[in-house]
Amino acid sequence: MTEQNQGTANDPKDRKPYEELRKQLTFSFKNLWNPDNQEEINSVMAFCEDYKVALNEGKTEREFVKFTVGLLEENGFRAFKPDEQLAAGDRVYDSVHGKGLVAAVVGSDSPVKGFNMIGAHIDSPRLDLKPNPLYESNDFTFLKTHYYGGIKKYLWVAIPLALHGFVTLNDGTTVDISIGENEEDPVFYITDLLIHLSSDHMQKKASDVVSGEELNILVGGIPITSDEDVKERFKLGILKLLYDQYGIVERNLLTAEIEIVPAVKSRDIGFDRAFVGGYGQDDRVCAYTALRALIDIDQPLRRTSVCIFYDKEEIGSSGVTGARSQLYPSVQKRIVRSILGREPSAFELIDNIEQSVMLSSDVAAAYDPTYASAFDPLNSTYAGRGIAIVKYVGRGGKGYTSDASAEYFDEVTKLLDKNNIPWQTGELGRVDLGGGGTVAVYQADLGITVIDCGVPVLSMHSCFEVTSKIDIYTAYRAYSVFMEQMRIED
Ligand code: MN
Ligand code: MN
Repeated sequence: MTEQNQGTANDPKDRKPYEELRKQLTFSFKNLWNPDNQEEINSVMAFCEDYKVALNEGKTEREFVKFTVGLLEENGFRAFKPDEQLAAGDRVYDSVHGKGLVAAVVGSDSPVKGFNMIGAHIDSPRLDLKPNPLYESNDFTFLKTHYYGGIKKYLWVAIPLALHGFVTLNDGTTVDISIGENEEDPVFYITDLLIHLSSDHMQKKASDVVSGEELNILVGGIPITSDEDVKERFKLGILKLLYDQYGIVERNLLTAEIEIVPAVKSRDIGFDRAFVGGYGQDDRVCAYTALRALIDIDQPLRRTSVCIFYDKEEIGSSGVTGARSQLYPSVQKRIVRSILGREPSAFELIDNIEQSVMLSSDVAAAYDPTYASAFDPLNSTYAGRGIAIVKYVGRGGKGYTSDASAEYFDEVTKLLDKNNIPWQTGELGRVDLGGGGTVAVYQADLGITVIDCGVPVLSMHSCFEVTSKIDIYTAYRAYSVFMEQMRIED
């Protein structure tokens, strides 16, 4: 073939129809940052300043519920009383044992037509204290832990840790503890083996390099007395401090809930501040954006909007405050009763569930070019490309996922398209590499139509997770539209 022929065959004019056809037939997701739209960038940055405060204030499920209740009450929500009558425009919330929460803005449509619901979880992977945690060893005082949720244990050594707890005292009063978050606070610590003596250690598999029984927290080193014959004098030194400060005795530690989290504040990441770094963004990034969308709802509202925050997602949604608990549908039934102003019939309750639609708002895995082999680039969700709508998660051939229907997936995404809200879709990662679950299955079990949807996260389940600010803002916009407009006929 001559050069001349090649030139003729590749005439750019001949390509035009294919380019047109490509435009017409293909589809791709775009990065959303637009440096020419300073107004939008300002809105994104401002929203994320508030979000970072929420991350810092709510580092445990209990704290996040408290933070949420404060914000709701500032914005016209009141505690829901099951025997009260609710009318369109009413704003109520119901705490579920202080670790979960249901909040609603009542719409004018009958509850029998269903609710627009968003569910997120507010627990995050962490270290919990064992029931009998305190001991001394070789002049150190330690707390023993049992990790909660899926963590890489080696990430928790040699970093500053904070202690957040809820303790019931002998007299029945309770005390909330938070140590390690303020600049002047001490922090806590799990030691690492020095590299100089690690030739054996470095041969271990990553899953074994730090074991669960090695996650012992250093909490003290000054004995209560210099008299070496006093038994457990180092442990006693710490117990005395706990007693003097909080009235806590060792008996109270047995029944307490004390959680160890990274002692880090959320921060901007990057020269351009494109990202938020922080602990517990899985799944408080979805919880906070949904909460703000609920608070900012444009009245009057047609369908009642409900926001649910679940506990215990990271350990399988079990327990009375987890998404499998009957408490959440019970609150929903009570809201139906209060709106109707009478006992609903069994069928009215069934209709409410059947006609309700939900976004199971949980984070997605953001494609990470440094670990590219873990992802299918065609089917990944990317930081900076908007909220991820995910048909299924699960593991090993879609095991244990709700696998949303094509109809609902299309309905949700068409609503977003109509409102110019960018979204993307993908899977968790490479097939058979691992997997994960969300609360969607449990809502689907009840009969609620549901799809997973959330913000892509880098370094998920690490001590300092990363999200793109434009995705956070897009999630907020998407949740607003879903609550206000889903299933509203024009
Ligand atoms: Mn999650
Ligand atoms: Mn998680």
